[in-house]
Amino acid sequence: MVKVMDRVLNMESKRVLVTGGAGFLGSHLCGRLVDQGHDVICLDNLYTGSKRNITGLLDRPNFEFIRHDVTFPIYLEVDQIYNLACPASPIHYQSDPVQTTKTSVHGAINMLGLAKRTGAKIFQASTSEVYGDPEENPQTEEYRGSVNPIGRRSCYDEGKRCAETLFFDYNRQHSLEIKVARIFNTYGPNMHPNDGRVVSNFIVQALSNDPITVYGSGLQTRSFCYVTDLIESFVSFMKTDKEVTGPINLGNPRELAMIDLAELVIDLTGSSSVIKKAALPQDDPKQRRPDITKAKKFLDWKPRVEIEEGLLLTIQYFEDILSAEAMDLTDR
Ligand code: NAD
Ligand code: UDP
Repeated sequence: MVKVMDRVLNMESKRVLVTGGAGFLGSHLCGRLVDQGHDVICLDNLYTGSKRNITGLLDRPNFEFIRHDVTFPIYLEVDQIYNLACPASPIHYQSDPVQTTKTSVHGAINMLGLAKRTGAKIFQASTSEVYGDPEENPQTEEYRGSVNPIGRRSCYDEGKRCAETLFFDYNRQHSLEIKVARIFNTYGPNMHPNDGRVVSNFIVQALSNDPITVYGSGLQTRSFCYVTDLIESFVSFMKTDKEVTGPINLGNPRELAMIDLAELVIDLTGSSSVIKKAALPQDDPKQRRPDITKAKKFLDWKPRVEIEEGLLLTIQYFEDILSAEAMDLTDR
């Protein structure tokens, strides 16, 4: 009864499901939606996510956590769905590749089915990986990509491509309101220290004065977006008119070679780490930079946080959790 009254008093408040809500991006999104007064259900099987990321939300009355695997159906009543469940780091999505494809494909089918039954709007966390190892730089949404269908990264790339297909077919066939975002490399607090992606690896290595592992020549590029900027774009995308389905690239267009990122992290941490070259993983894209013309036009959004500022905030986060972990060890 109290819940019904709350909802009547706050008509703007929505029941929002965030799959993958205990992960890096999902936890920031849940926090943002809870602060806005929405009734948030965070669904996660904790494969790469962590309860630590949502500890601060667990005692909020408009937040609840459900431990569940999206590859199985679930029956909930919701107004909006953000579908983020899927490991995003290459080492994690490649460690159980069959489950990765199932998560993207069966997970999309289950969440689209839920959206169809409830009439919910549904957002898909797609990826720049749908462009594979791109021959065009920057990548526009019209570019169809250069993806190896049978390589080590395919479970993720092709899983996400198939999920996009399902989203557009549900939109055409069942008139579902969809929002497909192609997310480019994003970093920030709540990344796991063993996440394996480049920003967390370099920072953790630098803070421990261990060698910084640059794969290949280090001349391959990525473009890094700070997490708060990205979350802002998700929320703006969800608010757009029904006709705005995407796909829309979301990311920061400032492009950086990995060797330059390593040097920047060493500078900002004041570390004595040296750079150590290691083997380049299979099918590692040589370049990646988003064309964000559409995001600017349809979402009235652009990233604001410069990489130096975002890295300093992320370094602070890792310093805090590494020293908390060290304290835990000495307490034992
Ligand atoms: P993450 O690994 O930190 O979070 C993913 C979350 O999904 C984790 O909490 C994990 O436990 C959960 N999960 C995995 N499989 C699941 C399953 N079968 N059922 C329920 N939960 C499951 O990664 P992230 O960086 O937060 O990425 C979130 C989403 O954004 C992913 O879909 C990813 O593909 C997409 N994305 C992220 C980036 C980025 O740079 N962070 C870039 C492109 C796309
Ligand atoms: N990389 C690296 N050292 C690391 C981790 C990653 O040089 O310790 C490189 C990786 O080869 C890739 C880039 O950094 O060229 C980004 O890798 P990440 O795993 O973060 O994401 P991707 O964009 O490849 O999915």
